[in-house]
This record gives sequence, C-alpha cells and structure tokens, in this order.
Amino acid sequence: MDYQHILETVWRDIQPYARLGQQADYIPALARVNPDQSGICLKTLDGRTCSVGDADVRFSIQSISKVFSLALALHFEGENLWTRMGREPSGTAFNSLVQLEYEHGIPRNPLINAGALVTADILLDHLPGDPEQFYIDFLRTLCGSPDIDYNTEVAASEQSCGYMNAAIANLLKHYGNIHGDLDRVMRLYFMMCSVEMSCRELAQAFIPLANHHQPFCFAGIDLTTSQIKRMNAIMQTCGFYDEAGEFSYLVGLPGKSGVGGGIAAICPMRYTIAVWSPRLNAKGNSILGMKALELFTTLTAESIF
Ligand code: GLN
Repeated sequence: MDYQHILETVWRDIQPYARLGQQADYIPALARVNPDQSGICLKTLDGRTCSVGDADVRFSIQSISKVFSLALALHFEGENLWTRMGREPSGTAFNSLVQLEYEHGIPRNPLINAGALVTADILLDHLPGDPEQFYIDFLRTLCGSPDIDYNTEVAASEQSCGYMNAAIANLLKHYGNIHGDLDRVMRLYFMMCSVEMSCRELAQAFIPLANHHQPFCFAGIDLTTSQIKRMNAIMQTCGFYDEAGEFSYLVGLPGKSGVGGGIAAICPMRYTIAVWSPRLNAKGNSILGMKALELFTTLTAESIF
C-alpha cells in the first residue's frame, strides 16, 4: 500500500474543509494558536513513516492526554479502577455535569473530564514524589522525544478560567470520588492536558496500542495485552464524547481527540495515525481531522470493520 500517496490524496481532498469551524477559545492561550496549520503523520508497525503538512509542529494534546493517564491508572489499579469510574460511552459533552450528578459522582468513562480528574487523583496517590515529572518522563519514553514538555502558560490559562472543571471536581469531591486536595488534582489535570506533541510524536506514542499482541512495557509501566485491548475498546466507544458513534461510523478506528485539534488513532496490528488541525466542530473535535481520517480509511479500506 502506497500510504504516502494516499496521504497526499487525502490532503488535497480535505482542503475545501480547511476554513470550517473554530478553534477552542474557552482556554485563552489556545485562542491564540494560528488555526491555519495542519498535518498528518502515519506510522506502520513494519516501520514506515509517512507525513504531510505540519506533522512536526507541536500542539496542545489536551484530552489525548487522557489515554496516557488511563494507561498509568490501569497499571497502578488494574480492575480496581472500575470501582471509581465506568467504561460506557457518555453520550454527553466532555465537560458535562448533569450525568455526573445523576450517577452519584461515578464518571461514565476515563476519557471525559470527570473520569480524567478521578484518574489524576489516583495518580497523585500512586506517585507521591513528583507526578508531573513522572508523567512527562513516561511520555518522553513512549514517543522517543526527550524534549517534549508541558506548556505551563496553557495550563495556567486553563486554570485561570476552568470553572466547569472546578465544578466537576467539586461534585466528585462531594461524592467522595476525589480523595486528595482539589487544587492539586486540578493542577495535575491541567498540566497533563497542556503537554505539546507533534503528529509524528503522537503517532509514535500510540504504536504500543496498535501493537496489542505485545505487552506494553515503557518507563516501568506494564500493561498486559488484554489491558491494551481494553484501552482500545474504550477509545473506540468513548474517545470522541458525544460524537463517538459518528467517529466510529465515519472512520472505524479506536482513537482520541483533544480540543487542541489533535486526533490520534490506531488500526490494530497495522498502523497509527495522528492528525492535527485546530478548527473544531460543535462537539469539540477537529473538523479537518475527522474528514482526513474518514477519507483515509475509505481509500485504504483499512479500519477495524
Ligand atoms: N483541558 C480541556 C478541558 O478540560 C480538555 C478538553 C478536551 O480536549 N476535550 O476542558
């Protein structure tokens, strides 16, 4: 399969969509990103890398960070994790409060904000030293780039007006599902969201998820093949909030989006693909990113279905 040629075709065909949508502006620092940047990087399990556009420009990974924190939480807690959160699609926005109240402080899944805040609380329990350092070291090992880092300006910017996340965290605390200090939990959560990576680095970091026949073993974090399978199942059903069904229908890959405009996805035992374009649809997912992946799996006929 000539993936480079297919990526170039996809790239050409998505250009009419390039100006649709708006970048996230509820985080002031993200509103300042130039929205007219975009890129795609594909990595195959047999070692090929193909890319188009700004595949090496780093951007805010935002909610894609929830996949990495889930990997850590599964390593530390195993099946116990599911006493603190569910693994069902939420069908609601990533920052929805209503469902959390109905369900007495048990988040639907780890890939919405409520679930990731509980995950941050769990990580603080298991990483008494410097959890931010541990997390970034883990990501550096995973993507093979020792210089990826947090953007502390983005984290501070989100913290300065993170009223919805503070409301979610307070509700979780009320129901006893956050054990530690609220401000500390939110600080770690915002820091994890603020990490900047390129499409190339994300595609690399997702390789162990695509290669799910091998146990995961990076920076002292181990996951069994069965746990990797389950992470992929959760991405498939929950990775796009209330658009998870649509992404599954259009693209057919387990993946995760973030409001920085990134999407990372995997095709089991074949490839990983990361796309970035900051302009989002109303559900908070990258318009160009979704379109690119829809075309890619149509042209290659390689999805999980
Ligand atoms: N940091 C963002 C928030 O908590 C992440 C949301 C997202 O990427 N969907 O609102």
